[in-house]
Amino acid sequence: MSRGKIIVVGAGAWGGWSAYMLQHAGYEVTLVDKAGPGHEKAGSGGKTRIIRMAYGGSQVYTDMVDLSFQLWEHYCEAWGQDLYHEKPSLWMFRGIDPAYATLSQPLMREKGYVLDEIDLREVATRYPQINLEDITSAFYEPKVGYLEASRACKVVKTEFEKLGGTYLEDKVISLEGHGRVEAVLTEGGKRLKADQFIFACGPWMKELFPELDPVIKVTRQEVYFYEEPERHGGEDLPIWLEFREGDRMYYGIPDHFNQGFKLAYDQRDWLLDPDHDDRGVTEPIFEEMSAIVVNRFPALQGAKLLKHHTCVYESSLDGRYIMEQAGDFANATILCGSSGHGFKMGPAVGQMVMQYIRDQKAFPREFRSDRLHHHKSMTSPYEV
Ligand SMILES: Cc1cc2nc3c(=O)[nH]c(=O)nc-3n(C[C@H](O)[C@H](O)[C@H](O)COP(=O)(O)OP(=O)(O)OC[C@H]3O[C@@H](n4cnc5c(N)ncnc54)[C@H](O)[C@@H]3O)c2cc1C
Repeated sequence: MSRGKIIVVGAGAWGGWSAYMLQHAGYEVTLVDKAGPGHEKAGSGGKTRIIRMAYGGSQVYTDMVDLSFQLWEHYCEAWGQDLYHEKPSLWMFRGIDPAYATLSQPLMREKGYVLDEIDLREVATRYPQINLEDITSAFYEPKVGYLEASRACKVVKTEFEKLGGTYLEDKVISLEGHGRVEAVLTEGGKRLKADQFIFACGPWMKELFPELDPVIKVTRQEVYFYEEPERHGGEDLPIWLEFREGDRMYYGIPDHFNQGFKLAYDQRDWLLDPDHDDRGVTEPIFEEMSAIVVNRFPALQGAKLLKHHTCVYESSLDGRYIMEQAGDFANATILCGSSGHGFKMGPAVGQMVMQYIRDQKAFPREFRSDRLHHHKSMTSPYEV
């Protein structure tokens, strides 16, 4: 017997996993997405996302990643799907206090994970491909990996359907009801009724909830894939992350599925309209990023750009998540502000949503949006 009907809007990492966990717990779930799970314009689009344990000393996030690691590994095995690929990572800091790493260490140790400071001479010996000239400290995290992003969303949706869940490709255009959502209306002319509604609409969240506008920003995140020169040894290089002054962060995956050397940035400077803006290469961003990667990996000088993808961040002003009741609607929940670090957390988010609905277990206080009422400008989630 069904525990009740639930509509989940958005089949990205957060909505898809929420729908799966709720269906698994005995609810009758309909998952609605306007363009398909992990489509190319969504936050969960593209090939890969990193999963790593270090979270700057935050207990809430450390607990969530620990759970996510376990659930990714569990479901990859249960479903016979190779969505998680392990590769160690190197954290590099340029002229700044490595507090993000050092504060992570005790919380990680408690859970049996390792993040060791590593002497720069040792780094130079292990990875002669890296120019360490201006790096002041480095840390090594052996258990890190990358997850297949778009493909994982499609797999989660398929597994959700195997449990009896219903998937509908349509766009939700409005909500009906006062105090409670009675139904959502779709572009395709449907009126979908349920007991509970979950909204995980990523960069489109503000279309249904314009009141989020002051606290959510949607930004342009370009990802580049460079051809690696022969004998560069990318397969032996770790995933790397580099923190610089001004809360700037860059990271990459060498030998990315044999499709080149992936480079991405964590700056949130360039706003993006997720539907209307051009998603091609922006020359000034490309030039800035190419200079950064060539400085760090000199053999990439003049490397051909094999592929490019413009993705979107949907960030809260402090870069932390928002998970709470949707305004005055007692039976509706919003999940947003995944802020460029939400993909890995999909399974943990799904489990938290399921426990929130089934057991009335509150979301962490840290995820309430009222914390942002006095926040004037964007800060980075890597600020500690
Ligand atoms: C370049 C880049 C690198 C990243 N790197 C990492 C990383 O290394 N590790 C990590 O953990 N995270 C990373 N992230 C962040 C992560 O990808 C996102 O936090 C996560 O994918 C967001 O998932 P979501 O489900 O909230 O949103 P989305 O994936 O955007 O899903 C929202 C879905 O809702 C649907 N939708 C919206 N409105 C409606 C509507 N009205 N009706 C029906 N459907 C609707 C959309 O079609 C979409 O499919 C990165 C993000 C980017 C862009």
